[in-house]
Amino acid sequence: MFQEPVIRIQNLSHYYGKGALHKQILFDIDLNIYPGEIVIMTGPSGSGKTTLISLIGALRSAQYGSLNVLGQELVGASQSTLVKVRRKAGYIFQAHNLLSFLTAQQNVQMAIELQANPRHIERQAQNMLKAVGLENRLHYYPDNLSGGQKQRVAIARALVNMPKLVLADEPTAALDKQSGRDVMEIMQKLAKEQSSTILLVTHDNRILDIADRIVQIEDGYLVANDPRRQSAA
Ligand code: ADP
Ligand code: MG
Repeated sequence: MFQEPVIRIQNLSHYYGKGALHKQILFDIDLNIYPGEIVIMTGPSGSGKTTLISLIGALRSAQYGSLNVLGQELVGASQSTLVKVRRKAGYIFQAHNLLSFLTAQQNVQMAIELQANPRHIERQAQNMLKAVGLENRLHYYPDNLSGGQKQRVAIARALVNMPKLVLADEPTAALDKQSGRDVMEIMQKLAKEQSSTILLVTHDNRILDIADRIVQIEDGYLVANDPRRQSAA
């Protein structure tokens, strides 16, 4: 069965800085990610993982090569194309980035309100928080939630609009082992139900088994498409 990749990256290179500070960070990256896949990206600190995932999420402008996300080419894309892709993806970051002056439910509702035709906002937010096991914390402010609970609100917020693509940058980094696994399993289950594609950056080798595939970045190069398969060989 042939399926178009959700993410198709060819020869992607990226530079930061100008003049003497001009420095290449990503080198000729090639990577395809297909519908429904859960792909984990690992690699040492400073190797370019956040840069790559932020390019894929249209959070910064892609410069050289080709980067196609959800059918849109992002190299040379207009601001409105970048915004379109941003709206279609769900994001989860290491720092949960919840708004501290909104309750759990209001944080999730806000993501729905940003959509073009928001409907049943309160009920959708409540159902999603229930799906992540927080039905008893709807009206709590982030300060009164544990790290794992905040990260589950962030997952609810990222998934409530049923995005075809979920991008997560070290979502379990601040969590203990059990909360980290819980958060991953919730994300995996919801993504399967919604047939979303997940690209997740992590150093956390306690959660690698959740991936369908692992890719590794070193010094800006994609060095292996699946280190597990390599080490098994
Ligand atoms: P990782 O997420 O794998 O730790 P990053 O993508 O954050 O790696 O960073 C890759 C490299 O790019 C690092 O050397 C970092 O210092 C540099 N870098 C990241 N962001 C910027 C920026 N906005 N301007 C200049 N250099 C940056
Ligand atoms: Mg990073």
